[in-house]
Amino acid sequence: MSITIFDLHADVFKVLANPKRLEIVHLIREKELTVGELEEMLDMRQANISQHLMVLRENNLVKTRREGTYIYYSLTDSKILKASDLIREVLQNKFKGAKHITGLIDDDMKLEDYLKEYKDPVCGMMVSAKTAADNCKHGGEDYFFCARGCKEKFVKDPNTYLSVSNVILRHEGSQDSSQTQNDNNREMIRQKEASIG
Ligand SMILES: [Zn+2]
Repeated sequence: MSITIFDLHADVFKVLANPKRLEIVHLIREKELTVGELEEMLDMRQANISQHLMVLRENNLVKTRREGTYIYYSLTDSKILKASDLIREVLQNKFKGAKHITGLIDDDMKLEDYLKEYKDPVCGMMVSAKTAADNCKHGGEDYFFCARGCKEKFVKDPNTYLSVSNVILRHEGSQDSSQTQNDNNREMIRQKEASIG
């Protein structure tokens, strides 16, 4: 019995038919991440995340790279993300402005604002209204977040994440301080990860 391309197509959708796995795929859109980094971003147990990563890996949607004691996860083919982004766009249009769904854009948002990139103040990932999982207002400014874990950390204690370097970045657009802050955050997460084992 031969299999059709639609059988294979359905297999990919089966693997992706899980909100957490979709979220993981979106988080590793730009750069590879460790389980510890994903744990911080998602606010989800590491064992749970590992399970989802295993499913994604077994089905060849995600690949790994080892560096020292860290294992980095990335997409095997970024086109999967394009497909997922397109579905998200369809949903954005369908549910535009619905208040009970997080990650949607406002009714009156202009295209330029929709695509404008912001730094997630917690993990340093670059996100936009198009790609962010959630957002909030603080001190009259909009903040966008990669996932729930980062938003919850920010809402609990915004001042921790509004460091001087962030302020400079927002006013001068300095790429260097962004990178330093980003590296600091990653280093913080790695240390935490290492202490867990
Ligand atoms: Zn984040």
